[in-house]
Amino acid sequence: MNYDKTKYRKIDWKHFMMFHWIINPGLMINELIFGQRVPKVMLMERSTKKAWAERFKVPCPHCNNIHDNRTWNLTNKTMFKNWFGLYCPACSGVIPCLMNIGTFVVLAVTSPIWYWFRKPLYNKWLAKQPGRYKNLDLETSDFQKHTWWQQGLGWGMFMFVATILLDKIWSEEYTMQKLLFHFVWWMIGGLIFGFILRTMTHKPTGKQRTNNI
Ligand SMILES: [Zn+2]
Repeated sequence: MNYDKTKYRKIDWKHFMMFHWIINPGLMINELIFGQRVPKVMLMERSTKKAWAERFKVPCPHCNNIHDNRTWNLTNKTMFKNWFGLYCPACSGVIPCLMNIGTFVVLAVTSPIWYWFRKPLYNKWLAKQPGRYKNLDLETSDFQKHTWWQQGLGWGMFMFVATILLDKIWSEEYTMQKLLFHFVWWMIGGLIFGFILRTMTHKPTGKQRTNNI
């Protein structure tokens, strides 16, 4: 892969984020159900003028284009349904992705079933891809749509509901007090999460974006 080594730093499975994606079995849900994928190789801009989250780029090994990571995000509705990999809108190739350990085990065990349908499923998926990347918005980051505390509370709320659902699955009894405790716990956790996100998605120097906060 050709890239300017003075401008970018290569990131692969040895990076903590990528490694976490591989070893956390919970992320199998993101991969198998939602089709959210992480490329095997990313490039990180060495410049420190940009927000941390905006410094990640995705190189295509087929055409050597270096894509903005917002090519596959919520704003463009391209974050999910990438079961076979990340589609490259420049050359129609498929960028190879990491595989979560849980996904690997499930796919290995069920391989006698899906193996026979792999090719037609892949072709069907591939045929749908060009249309998904026609009008890409690479200016708007997913993080710009809401303020940090809105994102944090949203995440907290999601975790709160998920906790209740899990409690139900484990048939644990929950009281009003327990519910309240969970709620306060996740709201505080949410605000901390939102604040961490904010530090990762804001420019470390220079003017703040006017459309955020
Ligand atoms: Zn490409």
